[in-house]
Amino acid sequence: MPAQECPSGHDTSTSAARDGQGHCRECERDRQRRRRVSDGMKLAMAKAFESAGVRFEDDAGQPVAPADVVRQLVNVYEAGAFAP
Ligand SMILES: [Zn+2]
Repeated sequence: MPAQECPSGHDTSTSAARDGQGHCRECERDRQRRRRVSDGMKLAMAKAFESAGVRFEDDAGQPVAPADVVRQLVNVYEAGAFAP
């Protein structure tokens, strides 16, 4: 077992395995990977909703209020956009 491990069990015994704050570089890579995947999923979901007629931004590029997004969802649902 390595002398030093991060809470996730990565070997942090060498200084190359840690960043300036002493955090585990392997964990940092994991965090960035998750963030990329999460951003990609949000984008994919937004595109799917938008193709069904739900808008998350108004004509001025401002975010639409969550209640308004729900109202749009109800409208597209009633219009049959989610029908199999
Ligand atoms: Zn780690």
